[in-house]
Amino acid sequence: MARTLDEVVTAVATQLMAVNAATNAAVSQRVLAELVGHFGVDVSFLRHNDHNIHATKLIAEWPVRTDIPDPDPLALVYFADADPVFAAAENAKEILVFRPEPATDDYQRRIEEARNIPGVTMAVVPMLSGDVTTGCLGFVKFGDREWTPEELNALKAIASLFAQLQARIAAEDQLRFLAEHDDLTGLNNRRALIAHLDQRLAPGQAGPVSALFLDLDRLKAINDYLGHTAGDWFIRVFAKRLREGAEGPNLIARLGGDEFVVVPDSPMTADEAEALAHRLQMMLRERVSIDGEMLTRTVSIGVALGVPGRDTTSDLLRRADQALLAAKSAGGNKIAVFSDDMSLKGGFRNDIELHLQSAIENGALVLHYLPEVDMRTGEILAFEALVRWQHPTRGLLSPNAFIGVAESINFAGELGRWVMRAACAEFRTWRSKGIGDDAVLRLNVSPVQLVTEGFVKTVADTIEEFGLDRGSVCLEITESVVVQDIETTRITLAGLKEAGVQIAIDDFGTGYSVLSHLKSLPVDTLKIDKSFVRELGTNQGDLAIVRAVIALAESFGLELVAEGVETEEAALTLLRHGCYRAQGFLLSRPVAGDAMEALLAQRRIPVQFSAAPVR
Ligand code: C2E
Ligand code: MG
Ligand code: MG
Repeated sequence: MARTLDEVVTAVATQLMAVNAATNAAVSQRVLAELVGHFGVDVSFLRHNDHNIHATKLIAEWPVRTDIPDPDPLALVYFADADPVFAAAENAKEILVFRPEPATDDYQRRIEEARNIPGVTMAVVPMLSGDVTTGCLGFVKFGDREWTPEELNALKAIASLFAQLQARIAAEDQLRFLAEHDDLTGLNNRRALIAHLDQRLAPGQAGPVSALFLDLDRLKAINDYLGHTAGDWFIRVFAKRLREGAEGPNLIARLGGDEFVVVPDSPMTADEAEALAHRLQMMLRERVSIDGEMLTRTVSIGVALGVPGRDTTSDLLRRADQALLAAKSAGGNKIAVFSDDMSLKGGFRNDIELHLQSAIENGALVLHYLPEVDMRTGEILAFEALVRWQHPTRGLLSPNAFIGVAESINFAGELGRWVMRAACAEFRTWRSKGIGDDAVLRLNVSPVQLVTEGFVKTVADTIEEFGLDRGSVCLEITESVVVQDIETTRITLAGLKEAGVQIAIDDFGTGYSVLSHLKSLPVDTLKIDKSFVRELGTNQGDLAIVRAVIALAESFGLELVAEGVETEEAALTLLRHGCYRAQGFLLSRPVAGDAMEALLAQRRIPVQFSAAPVR
């Protein structure tokens, strides 16, 4: 049965929706085959423009040519060498239709005869992203063919579906690369290291798995005296030597600053790992010339082993870190292998472990709140509860200091329940005074909580107990958790959704893993991680990422919140690109409960960038 043009466009949309980078070519080819059939043309192709190298790249074609020469002359075509049709596709904004001239004139006829090709009709449909032509769809009919305006409109709609897909895949690729690599050295980053160790330490893997935790001694002095450029340069040289000397195969990661981890691929005893550490240390001690000065920096190394099926990634990294601390506190330029009594010295950690339980009982935990604002108007749209610990001797502790410990001692559930109850109770008090009626309470959830039995019910019951409507509570989860146990997570999120609770992905962009699941998870909001936002306005790389995330959010129909807006430039840049929800020190610091109540009563925070373009 012949399909209407609308049905054809809808069918294309449906097929392209689930495509990712890996399936793009195959699905595109299938769609082209259907279009060839539907429009009764002979050839169809999809090409992407690469404006960096001024070329167009073949993505899919139908029918697939037989006997494609190697290299394929059509695979990558530089606009400079292209025939006029391809060249026109570089910046075309409107559909171009080429039809054979009626072969009345002698010249034309002679050309056709000489080339032995009949006149062809060709429709080139540009793919557009904003004002950039990102590629084209081509349809070739041997002989003459008329395209009706309705057909051309359908082609336009189809090209725009392909353009959206292309933008989404580009954004995904970019985020994925960024998520796995360290900018400065090109080494793996923390996330890649953790993924690798998770896999190596799974039950049944060969072990023991050794981790060497390296730290440059006194790098700070180079930064302080020679400047950051010199410090960066030094780190790059160090990374290069490490790559050359680490006796691969192995995984080498930079954890930020001057910390590196080497994980050899082959299982090792503690003695073997220590011997490797000594060889590395010798090699890394060689001098480096910076600005004509010869510098040496010694390195301290902590060594630890993990047994697959018994130890977790965080066990292993914590031990290696403790061994490193021991090496450093022995004066640096040392190697230490983890031993059990070192763990007793993790004093701070122990202290936290011991006192966390009583902190809850003694009311030493407090909540601060961070408003989330519509930057166009200053209106407070939501507020995020952030837990703090008023520690008797250590002062006000930030969650980063104790949440990790709580998780490792199976205490996250209890902590999370306290936070949820305390925040809901406070919110109810405000609501009972008619304050904060339109605002949403955002709560951070620990990964472990999410996969705990009965979590959905606890959440639903708590919200009900405090008489809050469920739509005014949103749970924030971090990316990594979503993926660790995707099936359980999916069920939990679906349950939460059904219970009417909103869901946000926190710190978005720092882990790529959730991207592939984003389409299938019931998520309402993405929060762009502050590391991409802080330098907006000065850092072009960050801007590219943020634009990619904005595009992703749009294509999935999600709300978007920028975290960590500290400067007016960042705020203006976000507004300019269509992201207006934000939180950050420019708008407000986290504040205590009574201050939050006062802000909510006022309903808005005066926004300082009055020149902001209102969209
Ligand atoms: P998060 O959920 O991404 O929360 C935002 C963090 O960014 C807060 O740090 C906030 O103070 C900080 N922040 C906000 N604006 C700016 C800014 O403009 N610049 C900078 N540099 N920082 C800004 P905080 O309170 O230290 O919380 C850190 C993390 O601890 C949170 O990150 C969240 O993941 C976790 N956390 C906080 N409270 C809880 C909780 O009750 N339960 C759980 N599981 N985690 C929590
Ligand atoms: Mg959060
Ligand atoms: Mg965050």
